[in-house]
Amino acid sequence: MDNLKNNLQMIKNDIKEALAQAGRKDDVLLVGVTKTFPVDVIEDSIEHDILDVGENKAQEFIGKYDIIKDRVNWHFIGHLQKNKVKYLVGKVKLIHSVDSIDLAKEISKRSEKIGIVQDILIEVNISGEESKFGITKDNIKDLLINISNFKGVRVRGLMTMAPNADDELLVRNVFKNLRLLKEDISHMNISNIYMDYLSMGMSQDYKLAILEGANIIRVGSLLYGKR
Ligand SMILES: *Cc1c(COP(=O)(O)O)cnc(C)c1O
Repeated sequence: MDNLKNNLQMIKNDIKEALAQAGRKDDVLLVGVTKTFPVDVIEDSIEHDILDVGENKAQEFIGKYDIIKDRVNWHFIGHLQKNKVKYLVGKVKLIHSVDSIDLAKEISKRSEKIGIVQDILIEVNISGEESKFGITKDNIKDLLINISNFKGVRVRGLMTMAPNADDELLVRNVFKNLRLLKEDISHMNISNIYMDYLSMGMSQDYKLAILEGANIIRVGSLLYGKR
């Protein structure tokens, strides 16, 4: 994959520019989204020092994990069914897509069983589109209060996906609203709930996301090519 080096350089420049434009002094973690790509692409990523990799299907993750093991930090970014949790816990660094009490409870149970605490993000449906996964703003506080009692998980922040729209203002508003929600939650001081991470921004909108405070971006096609 000859283009990876160039694509990565371009994205790194964009990250730098967006951080400067936003007046930010902190950094952004780039997660390379390797879903649907063969495992070689992960080997290439490692060579280019992309050591955080995102997958969205449990089955696919397992196959790749068997080969790559812990040479990368794995991020699970897709919709997750309870019966698949056991394949991820203890192997993935961060699960970005927790949106129900039941799912969090299952992750906690499996984690306690093997003596770890699993870091998770809560996926929020900011735009309110019915087709989207994620908890709504109205329901998130109750969810967090429930999750705060689970000993096997630690909430580290929030994740969202913007609508697939050309309207920059609309997209940016979604990111802004996730940032404001993160600030609200921080002020609630719920035990065991940390708001370190905002995972937002993909190939088409990561610059806007960084302008609004994203510190994890999930980029696939712009790095690795069309799926
Ligand atoms: C596929 C995917 C991405 C990456 O999308 P690209 O447009 O390829 O950058 C990011 N986040 C999630 C949740 C995804 O499923």
